[in-house]
Amino acid sequence: MKERIVRRIANFPPTFVPRRNNHGHHHDDDISNESVLDRVCLHGGQITFATIRFPPSSAITTTIDDDTYVGAGTEGVDVNAGSATGGGGEVPTIDKLNDINDDNDLLLSRNGGRVIFARGPWIESHPLIRKNGEHDAQQHNHVYKILAFGQGGGVGSSKLECVRGMIFPSSFSSSSSVAASIIAYGGRRISFLFGGGLWNNHQRSGSVEQKRTDYKDDFGCIPIRYNELHKDMRCCPYLEVSDWVHDISMLPIIPIIACSQRACSSSSSIGQGTTAVANGRRTLEDEETESDTSCFLLAMGMANNSCEIWGFRQRLHLNPSGNNDMMILHPTRLQCITCDVRCMTYSLSFYGWDCGDVNSVWRVHTDGDDKSESRMSDAIPTLIAASGTVFGDVVVWSAMYDLSNTHVTSNDYLPSIIKDWLLANAVATNNTDTVHPRNGTLRIRVSPMNCLKGHLGSVLAVKFSSCGNFIASTSDDRTVRLWGKMPMKDIETMHVVSDVETNDTTSCKTRSSEKSALSSLHEWSLIWTGWGHSARVLDVSFAACPSSSHQEYGTYPILVSAGEDCTARIWSPMMSDKEITQPLRGHRCGSIWSVDVCQGIVITGGNDGCVKLYELKSRIKSDERDDVGLYDVPPDPPSIKKAGTALAPKADEQLSKTEESTNREESNTPKKTKKKAKPQADHVQSICGMEFYGSTGKVHSKLLIATKAGGLFSLDLASSVWKDYSCWSKHVVASSDYETSISINQKTGSCIGVHPSGKSAVIGTTEGWLVVSSICGSTSSYGATTSCNQNIAFQAPSYRPVQAVSFIDDNSLLVFYARGSVIWFNFDQSPTPIYILTLGTTGIPLSFAYDCRDKAMYIGDSRGSVAYFDLNKRNPVLDMEHRLVRVDELKPESLLATVHGKEHVTGITILKSTGVIISVGNDGCMHQFRRDASTGQLQKLISIAVPNASGLRHIWNVPHPDGGERVIIGGFYGNDFVMLDSIHGYEFLRVDTGGRQRRQDLFFRFSNSTASIRYPNIFGMAILAGWKHGSNSIEFHSSHSFLSTLANLDTRGDADSSYSSYSIGSPLHADINDICWIGDILLTGSNDCTVTLSKFDGTNFVSIADLPPHESCVRGVCSSRHQGTCLDLLVTCGGKLSMEFYLLDTSSSSSYHQMTGNNVSFLCSYRTLAKASIDHRMNTVRATPLFPREKQCHLVVGGDSDGNLHVCLISQCALPRRTVVGTILHGNGRPVLCLELLRFSGKILAIVGTTGGEVTIWVFPGSIDISNAGVGDKEVHVVLPTSPIFSYCAHQTGVNDISAAIVDSPSPDGTSVVVCTVGDDQSLSTCVLRFPDSSQDPDTPLMPISQLLLITESASASALKAVQLVVDSSAFNRIYTTGHDRQLTLWQLNISLDEISVKCVSSSPLGTDGSCIDYVCRVQDDGSIHEMIAVGGEGVEVQSFNRNILHAACKLHEANYLLITTGAGFSSDSGLQTYECAPSEYRDMCNPSKLIDDPDRFQQFWLDFTKSYLATKPHIGYELLDQWCEGGRLRHLHRSNCDRDGSSNGCSVPWWVYSSNVDGHFRLFGSFSKSVCEIHGSALEFRCACGIGYANGEPRLGNLWDQWNQKALLSTDSCKSTTVEVKLDLLCDVNRSTTTLLCRHCLQPMRPNVLMFHDTDENVLGSIDIQRERYQTWEGLVEDEVVQRGANLVILEMGCGVNVPAVRQESEEVILDCVKKVSTHENNNAIAGSVCLIRINPKDAAINIDGGTFDSIPIASMAAVALRKINRWLEALSGCET
Ligand SMILES: [Zn+2]
Repeated sequence: MKERIVRRIANFPPTFVPRRNNHGHHHDDDISNESVLDRVCLHGGQITFATIRFPPSSAITTTIDDDTYVGAGTEGVDVNAGSATGGGGEVPTIDKLNDINDDNDLLLSRNGGRVIFARGPWIESHPLIRKNGEHDAQQHNHVYKILAFGQGGGVGSSKLECVRGMIFPSSFSSSSSVAASIIAYGGRRISFLFGGGLWNNHQRSGSVEQKRTDYKDDFGCIPIRYNELHKDMRCCPYLEVSDWVHDISMLPIIPIIACSQRACSSSSSIGQGTTAVANGRRTLEDEETESDTSCFLLAMGMANNSCEIWGFRQRLHLNPSGNNDMMILHPTRLQCITCDVRCMTYSLSFYGWDCGDVNSVWRVHTDGDDKSESRMSDAIPTLIAASGTVFGDVVVWSAMYDLSNTHVTSNDYLPSIIKDWLLANAVATNNTDTVHPRNGTLRIRVSPMNCLKGHLGSVLAVKFSSCGNFIASTSDDRTVRLWGKMPMKDIETMHVVSDVETNDTTSCKTRSSEKSALSSLHEWSLIWTGWGHSARVLDVSFAACPSSSHQEYGTYPILVSAGEDCTARIWSPMMSDKEITQPLRGHRCGSIWSVDVCQGIVITGGNDGCVKLYELKSRIKSDERDDVGLYDVPPDPPSIKKAGTALAPKADEQLSKTEESTNREESNTPKKTKKKAKPQADHVQSICGMEFYGSTGKVHSKLLIATKAGGLFSLDLASSVWKDYSCWSKHVVASSDYETSISINQKTGSCIGVHPSGKSAVIGTTEGWLVVSSICGSTSSYGATTSCNQNIAFQAPSYRPVQAVSFIDDNSLLVFYARGSVIWFNFDQSPTPIYILTLGTTGIPLSFAYDCRDKAMYIGDSRGSVAYFDLNKRNPVLDMEHRLVRVDELKPESLLATVHGKEHVTGITILKSTGVIISVGNDGCMHQFRRDASTGQLQKLISIAVPNASGLRHIWNVPHPDGGERVIIGGFYGNDFVMLDSIHGYEFLRVDTGGRQRRQDLFFRFSNSTASIRYPNIFGMAILAGWKHGSNSIEFHSSHSFLSTLANLDTRGDADSSYSSYSIGSPLHADINDICWIGDILLTGSNDCTVTLSKFDGTNFVSIADLPPHESCVRGVCSSRHQGTCLDLLVTCGGKLSMEFYLLDTSSSSSYHQMTGNNVSFLCSYRTLAKASIDHRMNTVRATPLFPREKQCHLVVGGDSDGNLHVCLISQCALPRRTVVGTILHGNGRPVLCLELLRFSGKILAIVGTTGGEVTIWVFPGSIDISNAGVGDKEVHVVLPTSPIFSYCAHQTGVNDISAAIVDSPSPDGTSVVVCTVGDDQSLSTCVLRFPDSSQDPDTPLMPISQLLLITESASASALKAVQLVVDSSAFNRIYTTGHDRQLTLWQLNISLDEISVKCVSSSPLGTDGSCIDYVCRVQDDGSIHEMIAVGGEGVEVQSFNRNILHAACKLHEANYLLITTGAGFSSDSGLQTYECAPSEYRDMCNPSKLIDDPDRFQQFWLDFTKSYLATKPHIGYELLDQWCEGGRLRHLHRSNCDRDGSSNGCSVPWWVYSSNVDGHFRLFGSFSKSVCEIHGSALEFRCACGIGYANGEPRLGNLWDQWNQKALLSTDSCKSTTVEVKLDLLCDVNRSTTTLLCRHCLQPMRPNVLMFHDTDENVLGSIDIQRERYQTWEGLVEDEVVQRGANLVILEMGCGVNVPAVRQESEEVILDCVKKVSTHENNNAIAGSVCLIRINPKDAAINIDGGTFDSIPIASMAAVALRKINRWLEALSGCET
């Protein structure tokens, strides 16, 4: 090691690049505060609120627009009735509106439905997406997002309040003209938002909406204007109130417009004292029209035990420009009601105005007639609050001091408030106290109407039902309670205390004696308590309510609750104490914070950052399908009853238990339960076997049951009819001789098997007999030879007892014997053993799989063994004469003992495609085997512990429609039988069986369609339930439409797949520990044990697959791919030192729509031999391809918590695949936190970071061939390192992340590797290691020859967790860091021979703590390459930028000379027409002869053109270019050099513009006034037209020209240079007069100084030539600078299309000239500079120039957009230099 330089710099606070606009220009486009990185996608943070909104259907729209309907509850209701109902039952509610819609197909009305949820302070609006990816409405696919309580940006997000709830006023109050579509509250804040894609296709009648129709549907915030002082109004994006808001309720008030207009204009209606400020008010009124104005009341329930009522006036603020009219809200605090019960409000719900949605609209008549009494319809509906307390009480109280009884007069307070409110401005400006109030507001204390006691803990959620008759509440005590309104016997006198805090209002005192209108005739009482949640219940929602129309769910309320136990539960309190269906699971971990039900869809939002949707209907129906049919088994035949008195050895206790459960089932399913059989206490019916079968052999429509008493019954499931067969143990004859009667002890019956034909059954006995009994009526399965009442018995002598029987086909019966043998009988009239398979173990054979292609039989036994028998080994010889053929026992070819521990092997299946054998067992594991073709030995491949199932019972190999196979596993988990997709761990069936011990049988049929491949389309499950009195029942579970399914099996599609599940929003999980891009697929591993693959579609992640979850946290994920293949090796690692390997096949999935979980296949697992506990974690893993490529092998290195490295070599080849070779390298004992693999010089460097802050470097061979290695083969000859080659200390604490890369070496004698690390010590450490050149002998050990280390201390304000190094020679080497600072910081890394430097370029906020980082380059549709940086944390956030933009910025930043070439496209960015789309008149008028034809029209046309140029504001690009040049942002422009030779011919500046545009816009900017070459002239200049008739000094020929030239003779010499600069005021003058613009010398019409078609005017040409000459001089000088003095020239070409290619050609010619000169330049001493062409063009950005080397940067974009983005980089880069 030659040198070892360590340098430390401190960098805190990070150099934040100033993003100010230095020149003080105020521009519409606010370019300040823009980050260089675009934030594309954000996921992260818990969901605090979630709901679904559907736009009103047309039915609703028409109804609500109908005045009479809306008015029904207001005008139409008689005064007393309105008062008596109190609860507002007559007010139209959302549910009534839903009535109209309810019979419709739900899906139809869901068009355009959106999912609205709050993720912390953010509100997101997503389209409702069906699981299959189809959007319900194609037009509304946008995702909108807004920071609810701020103006965007998200800076300082820790201070932001989380959104706790929202209401949606727009949805049903279209006539109310409320501009907000969402009112969100959280903390002390309330925000009014519009847009969000909520109802954009719904043409609302409100005038407000019409004015906003051209608004984008993006989210926007309606500002609040406090009229605190009239002259000092301030706007705030949200309303801040005095305490936490728990619920809000809104009441829109619609003034009758004609009247209120009068009222507004009538000064007499304005209350006293308004005249003082009348002037101020009038100016406000001038801005508005009455239609702008609407108002609403907002009630807020606060944590300080009070409800406040605010009035809001909504006013359209008209922008003078007319484009940006803005809605502004003026709030007035009207009333504050405090509940008399002193306790902290913990939760609250309002009833009276609305229930979540605004459903009532209040119309206020303002007749303008002060003398008239206020009518009752002027009274505001009552409002009741139910609040939950910490003491477990729910307090119901009046939330509004209601004055709606008959004594209301015009003098009363509230109506005058309304009147005043209609004149809100008057009130507001009149009485400042009521505006931003702390006093002066009516404050009233009321006693509670009811205090509902019952909960044993804090009440966490309270909800009124929409009808107001029920209250649901949830609590700490894990219960959900329902309270109902009951008639009250005695009307108690309500005690109302009125307390006015200020002394100017006294009228309220008079009210204190009155009873409140809310003293209703009802009281609340507890109706029901729901137990079931295992933790705190956080939220509850009414899914249906009696008064509403959800008739399909009956007439009872249905509740959905959710809580900390991560489940949502559905209850029907009137029907059942218990949940009516299975809990809704699906959230990964933590709590479910929010639950809501809308139009039958349940939506939940959880701590995992996910939003889940469930269809309530199908959930309830699916419960039907899981519903139990309970069938009493008929009693045993009377003839044998006595014989059957042998009691089953079950204890009474056990039986009573089952009875209990059976009784429960019965109570829930009264219809299907037959009348209970009479007790038969002396007899216990013992069932020895049951099996589903079908009479057709195809459909399992029947269940056969055999009892030990000889009974044989079948149950026809379609008709529920039992059928008895003859006793199987009587009339038994021998199969060999039907005359021989055999005596069978019926008590020995042990098992049953039904012949595939469904005509007979075989009963096995413990004495070795197999009895064939007919079950098809009178005809025996053996045909005529058997008499109908005979049973036929056979046995294999010396083999007993029979444990199980199973038919393989019509002629093959497998009989399992307890002594470890299986006999294959040829099943015909005389069953004959043809194979005897003896395992030779101590276990009982339990399961088998037979591969008929190669006659391979696999058998699993009760001791965990799996045996393979080769049935080819013996061809059975049947001796037809002797019947009994001596058959030798076969021994297994291969036996794997105790594979499943010593637990039962319960299921085996064979994958047809690969021949892989999979077994499942009671040990909860799934094992895979392979049979070695040559040796015939079984080889164990992998084992997987199946999560969420402890006892596996079944395995199915289900063919997939795509030709593949799907392995489905069934097993038990607690008392539930579950079915799982083995690859994806997806649970799709769960049936409560009451325990695995109960005898059961089941069958499944799987659909062949892709849509429902995950679901068995039919299943049936029979579970035996015993009765205390001895008889039995069968619980039958089936698909819910089982019977109809049977009837219509052939015609059925999957239309009735009853699991409609929706998926939206964040498919990503929370707490991401590691992240890895694979193309645009993101692999994420989470703390919640899950691994997810998601595809990034440009704006969002779409979930592709969930890999099987780990046992504990997933610590690391990585991928590796051989070049030229489409297979990626995926590796995940975590607790117990586990590593899992998968293959991702991207070959067939060019579009993400096709990408599914099928593209992922499991490869194998890595397990250490040592017993590893959860405490032993694999903290990190990285993989890299190994050479030779064709071997398709990878090196995988994992680092563990013991400081060891686990080195795996894994092959992805077809065969033998799944090879893993593991070796452990022992480190220094410090836990490994991170590592990175880097292929370098034919070897692989492993760079490892530990908790000690130390970085060690290991060298692995780069080429290893393991394709011949066997499983676990340690014999592979691999030379692995025993110690690191190098180490250094990078951090004071642990190294959290490493990123390394090879960089272009500034060193002549070696190659440099850069290693970047970050740590908890807040530092970024960068190490450059120089290695000798790879040309050296490859056998020489790799050793760095020098090291440079730079430690940037305080690189962040908090711990840095992740780092990513990106090497980019075209721009600069970049380092991204992130951590707990919630920032993504970009650093510029410069490496020279003896120094490295790191500078902060930019820092942009993240929505999450950063814990891991990865980047990928994504080719966009326009061909540009975007660098996508994904940061994992609480979710995943992606920030990105266009690399070409960065490259362009870097080139510009280094530029010494800048040539700007622009075409029509550049002008069009300002809104000017390009030539291509100019009116045809332009072509016509762009001809000098038109001046002669029709001078007036010609001039007018051109003056109009000029006028439009002058009137159009140049786009921001001009300003930016001006800043770059004269403004000095491009600081390397050779400003001083230009005057070096004293030349004054235009080379005074290092930039020049070459433009074909005639708009003259460049002239408006100081930078370019003297350095512009307008090759087509400028329309801002008119000149004398005296030269128009000449060409090359000769008069043009033709009559017209002759005449003109005659006139032109009058012109003088000075005419040639006579020009008029056209100004806007000049144009005005011209327009006013009819005279044309004339030359002041010759008085002839002037012409624009624009080069036209066929233009030969030497005056024009001359003026252009002057510019051109100056330009060419400049250009020549620049070329010399480039060639001889090493200057850098950048040509920035913008908007030059291919149609008029003059400018494009000029750019290319300059490039070629320079390149040519550089290449032929002989002065080798001079360092030639560089040339670079940046072509910005939205359509034709491609650069195809042959010859020489130069930098070409195409940017497919509009010029203004691209320049802005480039400018951001330039600001960042120049900030970096200072
Ligand atoms: Zn003239």
